[in-house]
Amino acid sequence: MDLSPAPAGWDPAAALEQVKARVHIAEAASGRAGSGVRVLVATKTWDADAAAAVVRAGGTLVGESRMQELDIKGEALRAAGARVHVIGQLQRNKAATAVQYADCVQTVDHARLAERLSRLCLEAERELDVMVQVNVSGEDSKAGVHPDEALAIASAVQALPALTVTGFMTIGLNSRDEDAVREGYARLREIRDQALIRSERGSVGLGSAWELSMGMSQDLEWAVAEGATMVRVGTAVMGPRPPA
Ligand SMILES: *Cc1c(COP(=O)(O)O)cnc(C)c1O
Repeated sequence: MDLSPAPAGWDPAAALEQVKARVHIAEAASGRAGSGVRVLVATKTWDADAAAAVVRAGGTLVGESRMQELDIKGEALRAAGARVHVIGQLQRNKAATAVQYADCVQTVDHARLAERLSRLCLEAERELDVMVQVNVSGEDSKAGVHPDEALAIASAVQALPALTVTGFMTIGLNSRDEDAVREGYARLREIRDQALIRSERGSVGLGSAWELSMGMSQDLEWAVAEGATMVRVGTAVMGPRPPA
């Protein structure tokens, strides 16, 4: 596993401030001033020291994509006081790493994965937050459940012991077409709103599922405008990732 050290001269506190300023401007521009959109820092490909430096600079919410990396960085992230979210596709045979180090798995896209997480959490005597990943862009290459299935899966996952569905996550369309990207984010918001409405009627108990994890370095303004409660930012905080 080739993990990169932080680039020379990198100032994580300043980079974080710049991203938070973008978020605040986007909140104000969309009538959401003070809504507290959180910034999750995506630390994939960066080594444990770089990831821990971001946490110490105030970026306490960290996203890891690959469980091989989380195995390496998990202890350092925990020692630095991070809250770790899994944001990459999670294979069932890697679920134990997530249960060991993560506070939330944002990428639940199958009931069988959720069942495995639930069982491992019961064994570890812990609880775990999860989000349902939805493929709103319709691109075959993207992970996540079909939008029409999202509510049914969320309800099934919520019914499992030790798991709490805190919301929905998506990877947006990779495009500079604002309307097309925002259409996907609006779709995720509608799914979240449906989840909250249904639970008001008392049927499936999805009242905890209010989070919308959407938007990245390139398009976080569009995601905030569509209601994101959390944006996931890598390059804008860490700098460009080295080519794989
Ligand atoms: C890497 C990653 C991000 C951050 O992407 P940037 O373009 O570097 O901001 C966000 N979400 C997921 C799921 C990622 O894997």
